[in-house]
Amino acid sequence: MIRRKFLHLFRAEPGKKIRLADYPTAWDQIEGLKPLGKRVVRERAAEVLERSRRELAEMQERLYADDRYSLLIVFQAMDAAGKDGTIKHVMSGVNPQGCQVFSFKEPSAEELDHTFLWRYMKALPERGRIGIFNRSHYEDVLVVKVHPELLEAQKLPPGKRGKKFWEARYEDINAFERHLVRNGTVVLKFFLHLSKKEQKKRFLERLTRPDKHWKFSAADLAERRHWDAYMKAYEQAISATSTEWAPWYIVPADNKWATRAIVADLIVQTLKKLDLHYPEPTPEQLAALEAARRELEDEPD
Ligand code: AMP
Ligand code: MG
Repeated sequence: MIRRKFLHLFRAEPGKKIRLADYPTAWDQIEGLKPLGKRVVRERAAEVLERSRRELAEMQERLYADDRYSLLIVFQAMDAAGKDGTIKHVMSGVNPQGCQVFSFKEPSAEELDHTFLWRYMKALPERGRIGIFNRSHYEDVLVVKVHPELLEAQKLPPGKRGKKFWEARYEDINAFERHLVRNGTVVLKFFLHLSKKEQKKRFLERLTRPDKHWKFSAADLAERRHWDAYMKAYEQAISATSTEWAPWYIVPADNKWATRAIVADLIVQTLKKLDLHYPEPTPEQLAALEAARRELEDEPD
């Protein structure tokens, strides 16, 4: 299913004003898939996920050996869209030493004493590694935009907090990401696109299944009441920050199996575009290896 020809469907075209309603939330809204039937598509998605997981493990090792690039993967979504599950399933084959996950919550007092990008900068992946942001610097133009009172806590210099203020933040984000990309950090951004209906279903599941209770928080329901404001904030943020150097992908999130396969495939395709290779030893290094081999072989037993 999800080879290259499908992937462009999920890309938010840089410079274009995007409308979330134009992007699928469920597998059967993805162009061309419905006639194949759910069973077939689901089976193929499982194959794509499996293959991508294997390829990702191998690509991560190359990324590490090559030591020129790092990969930053940003996950943003409404509650219960499957960020945690996607991270768990897609990254499960990767060497834990080569991968770091950071989950961002409400900022601490120390974090509020710095500019909004500071805490994200501190968490960036080193060369050779994959870094995952479970929520990210985008919260500062999403939850903070939906709840402007959160801005008060940021202790900014006086000024209007209108359109220009938010445009300046998008601009800062674009400049930040451009800086990263220019210096070898590849930036990949996923918005897991969940329908309001499916969120209701997942919340109800969390409320009725004792093993899922821990996942529910009353705050989640409070945020749901702001659904439309969030969708608008997402549309504006994605439209302003999907760039050639750091594009957004809007991934259907109503079917977890589809989300995972698409995300895994997109990560692998992105890494494949980098020309990663194992370092070639220099003639001096080869000579030293040969000398070491000879010394070991000549050791008396
Ligand atoms: P969860 O990811 O479900 O554990 O929830 C984390 C909460 O922290 C969410 O409600 C986010 O909206 C909130 N959060 C994350 N980043 C920020 C931020 N920069 N400012 C305010 N709230 C944030
Ligand atoms: Mg939550």
